[in-house]
Amino acid sequence: LPMCLFCKIASKEIPAKLLFETEDVVAFHDINPQAPIHVLVIPRKHLVSVGTATAGDEALLGKVLLGAQRVAEELGIVDGFRVVANTGATAGQSVFHLHVHVLGGRPLGWPPG
Ligand code: 5GP
Ligand code: ZN
Repeated sequence: LPMCLFCKIASKEIPAKLLFETEDVVAFHDINPQAPIHVLVIPRKHLVSVGTATAGDEALLGKVLLGAQRVAEELGIVDGFRVVANTGATAGQSVFHLHVHVLGGRPLGWPPG
């Protein structure tokens, strides 16, 4: 999907503040941070959401979560961070390329909004 914003970030067609990248995933800082640390982890492969992923993507989904762990380690928030996957417009998903938000650096309230 050449029009997809996050595909363009993964391919560096659009610049982003990259934290790290692997063969399968890319981690970059959110342009509109909601916490002192707010990083997005995406698979390079275009998947729409957790809601539509399939068994064939099982390993890739695991790599995205381990990417979130790596974000927390690299940015020093292993003591407490949140991994969020807004899934569907009703839940606030605005970019329809699967991503997890990694949030930390401040106390995080519960329940979320
Ligand atoms: P969603 O709303 O789908 O859960 O999350 C999408 C996130 O992508 C939002 O937090 C938004 O700030 C972020 N975002 C949207 N456009 C860009 C962009 O061009 N660059 C970066 N780094 N983040 C973006
Ligand atoms: Zn995409």
